[in-house]
Amino acid sequence: MNIAFIGLGNMGLPMAKNLVKAGFTVTGFDLSAAALQALEAAGGKTADSAAQAADGAQVVVSMLPAAAHVKSLYLGSGQEGEGLLARLPAGTLVIDSSTISTSAAREVAQAAREKGVAMIDAPVSGGTTAAAAGTLTFMVGGAEQDLDQARPVLEKMGKNIFHAGGHGAGQTAKVCNNMLLGIIMSGTCEALQLGIAHGLDPKVLSEIMGKSSGASWVVNSYNPCPGTLETSPSARGYIGGFATDLMLKDLGLAMEAATDIRASVPLGGLARNLFALHSAAGNGKLDFGSIFRMFESAES
Ligand code: NAD
Repeated sequence: MNIAFIGLGNMGLPMAKNLVKAGFTVTGFDLSAAALQALEAAGGKTADSAAQAADGAQVVVSMLPAAAHVKSLYLGSGQEGEGLLARLPAGTLVIDSSTISTSAAREVAQAAREKGVAMIDAPVSGGTTAAAAGTLTFMVGGAEQDLDQARPVLEKMGKNIFHAGGHGAGQTAKVCNNMLLGIIMSGTCEALQLGIAHGLDPKVLSEIMGKSSGASWVVNSYNPCPGTLETSPSARGYIGGFATDLMLKDLGLAMEAATDIRASVPLGGLARNLFALHSAAGNGKLDFGSIFRMFESAES
């Protein structure tokens, strides 16, 4: 099977590498030359454009930053001409794993359906470590038969595949999950810094929390305090991982989802504002766990 993979960033590159490892012919496209080189070094092919990558592909996977990139790729924009959907033959399967709004996912899926192209939204959770290990969680929105067709591809990149509902439902699930993640990350940083200011060793405090009622994926697998966990972005100066600006985008999507139905999400709103302040202070490109620094006490 030929797979086109568009967007070879922190997540897309390790995901595409797993597809290469599984024996698929993968042709990647990214705006970054370094990303293309990295895919080639792993045995993948590369193209000069998304259209070229998709030429002859039965499946297209995209892993782009935000809705604007996804819409521009598939629907095209005034400046960049026609989108990929205009070129894909009927029967092609499109898997968009980017985190975007439910409404944008539905808009692109509707346009795909009009061209006879099957599309599912399949955002992921697990971070870069799970992307590299092939243990991501996929939250899928779309038709059951399209998910069944996608399974052999998704199974090579992830361990858990959930069908959340119709088009956009995967994105709704992802936005709810990431709103909770933003809240838990902020709360964990606050609690760790309080303990540190009182003289506790953060490693010992993390071990205690990790086996107590404050345990979470953040404490145990993505600890934001440097020196507590080798595999966490905090161990490498918050480089790579999940950018603060991407978390800010996801919290904005949560606010949109809440506004649509007049829901009250006070903690999500607070987390969005904290990450907005953190981004405005120049930390947008750093992993979102770097918000740990914001809670540093004058006493520590
Ligand atoms: P990233 O910024 O590292 O990667 C995005 C890549 O897309 C970049 O390499 C960029 O050059 C490329 N790109 C942008 N526009 C393009 C275009 N028009 N054509 C081709 N390539 C283009 O982002 P990421 O961390 O890999 O995240 C990707 C998506 O996955 C986002 O929607 C994010 O919210 C979501 N996500 C990220 C994580 C994480 O831990 N990083 C976890 C779950 C979900």
